[in-house]
Amino acid sequence: MKTPKSMMIGPVEVPIREEPGLISKRELGGYTEFPSGEIEICPDLPPQQAVLTIFHECLHAISAQYGLGLSESKVRVLEMSISALFRDNDDFTKVYFKHL
Ligand SMILES: [Zn+2]
Repeated sequence: MKTPKSMMIGPVEVPIREEPGLISKRELGGYTEFPSGEIEICPDLPPQQAVLTIFHECLHAISAQYGLGLSESKVRVLEMSISALFRDNDDFTKVYFKHL
């Protein structure tokens, strides 16, 4: 998967930087730097894991930007439940993204 250069989190453009060796350095596929909000992504992740990792890190960035203070476990629950919501409701997902 081609890693996006940035993601828009509300009005803020959050840069994404590929960080080779991130898994061995931090034992993570992705990491969000605070307070800069920059997201680091390991470039060697399989596509499905890369997508979920970017989404996961965006949830951390949203939590920080809006002062939600979400714990790691809450971010993981949101990551998996929202991903499953869109994956398991294909008809709704198509309509949802068509009308955004
Ligand atoms: Zn996390």
